Amino acid sequence: MTSHTKKFDLCIIGAGPGGYVAAIRAAQLGLKVGIVEANHLGGICLNWGCIPTKALLKSSEVNHLLHNLDSFGFSAEKIKFDFTKIIERSRIVSKRLSTGISGLMKKNKIEVIDGFGKFLDSKKISISKDGKEFTQIEATYFIIATGARARVIPGMEPNAENIWTYREAMTAKALPQSLLVVGSGAIGSEFASFYRNMGSEVTLIEMAENILPVEDEEISKLARKSFEKQGIKIHASALLKSLKKDKDEMVATIEIGGKIEELKAEKVIMAVGIVANVENIGLEKTKVKTDKGRIVANGYLETAEANIFAIGDVVGAPWLAHKASHEGVIAAEKIASKLGKYDAKKIHPIKVENIPGCTYSMPQIASVGLTEKKAIAAGKKIKVGRFPYAANGKAIAAGESEGLIKVIFDEKTGELLGAHLIGAEVTEMIQGYVIAKQAELTEEDLMHTIFAHPTMSEMMHEAALDAYGKVIHF
Ligand SMILES: Cc1cc2nc3c(=O)[nH]c(=O)nc-3n(C[C@H](O)[C@H](O)[C@H](O)COP(=O)(O)OP(=O)(O)OC[C@H]3O[C@@H](n4cnc5c(N)ncnc54)[C@H](O)[C@@H]3O)c2cc1C
Repeated sequence: MTSHTKKFDLCIIGAGPGGYVAAIRAAQLGLKVGIVEANHLGGICLNWGCIPTKALLKSSEVNHLLHNLDSFGFSAEKIKFDFTKIIERSRIVSKRLSTGISGLMKKNKIEVIDGFGKFLDSKKISISKDGKEFTQIEATYFIIATGARARVIPGMEPNAENIWTYREAMTAKALPQSLLVVGSGAIGSEFASFYRNMGSEVTLIEMAENILPVEDEEISKLARKSFEKQGIKIHASALLKSLKKDKDEMVATIEIGGKIEELKAEKVIMAVGIVANVENIGLEKTKVKTDKGRIVANGYLETAEANIFAIGDVVGAPWLAHKASHEGVIAAEKIASKLGKYDAKKIHPIKVENIPGCTYSMPQIASVGLTEKKAIAAGKKIKVGRFPYAANGKAIAAGESEGLIKVIFDEKTGELLGAHLIGAEVTEMIQGYVIAKQAELTEEDLMHTIFAHPTMSEMMHEAALDAYGKVIHF
């Protein structure tokens, strides 16, 4: 039974990094905002994605360092770890941040409605808990920010026991002795790296020709080399045909170049992509359109229904938290402008080519813009510069001399078309190139910029110099 109807200027469905950021921005602009969340504030990112995985990866880096102390002049005996504590720490980190979002909602006077939202028509949604409606919400505008979930291959459905999605993989009760990771995108590669550094035997299989298939081919190949050096077994161009249980092991049948092989492992992590949450939210009661399972929205995140916007994973790739948040700000400002509370001229559509992508494995990988192949395919004449970690003083001093920085410029205009990095700290360094791209800096601007010494970011300078035959230190 519905007790009463709540009314807002803007109601957001889903409180992930898309939804909660949109809510705060809209509240800052003077809108009365409600946000509906069926699970945890912070969405996948804070609870099951970006943050807990980074906490786990930090533990595995510590383990790696502890086992490689001698090169720094230290020794330690009987190094042990408590796997339960490592998992526990990552859950505590998530909880802390999710609680922080609750505080931010209060501070910004945003009403949080704990329940599942479903459109009744374009201006009204029903909110239910355990399948029972307990209230309805009317709003002038809505933002759909319902996110996405792990893709499941029929016949290989995850179970808590031995076929895992990212959720089970980040809450494992014990370290598996052997592990098969299916899919080598950012999520698959990060788990492969975590478990290998903790001591599991890890096999990574990838359908595409290269691991991390969206990255520049040269970087993907370097990542493969490094993963293999650490003991990760890799099968690329490998298609998973079936999974079955045999006593205590999982047996995967894979096809590689027409040949069938069997791989055995204690656990399997399925990291084969994600699917947008577009079902059961009453989209059929609105004019909102979907295409290939995602909501169709323009650069301002407007859908085919004039008062409904959609942001984040539910509108498609790249499936990244910072993309979701940025889209949240654009949508909130656009809505505020329609209500006369913001200057529409200040709003810019999202530029997908300026969104960085990071993988926090060991080594880290980060990129922005076009790969070399894509730049050539786009008909660009390019200049490519590279700088290896092996020639950087700070990297050598830190014991991190493996890696490469690669930049791609438009030969005619000097525009930075793409940057592709692999090695220590690249997930921090990439931001320098993102700013350069956003500000439309040219090769000249980058060459005239003074980088502090000794830093790893000096390599960003040297790579730009290399593209024009002016490199100093190599
Ligand atoms: C293992 C893993 C690691 C990742 N690491 C990174 C990373 O390092 N960096 C990065 O940028 N991205 C990372 N991501 C991706 C990132 O988590 C997502 O891109 C991001 O969370 C998308 O934000 P969103 O707001 O669109 O959706 P979500 O975070 O998915 O939030 C959607 C929210 O909506 C709620 N919801 C859904 N339907 C309803 C409904 N009808 N009513 C009410 N509430 C509803 C859900 O409960 C959820 O809380 C990772 C993802 C995973 C799985």
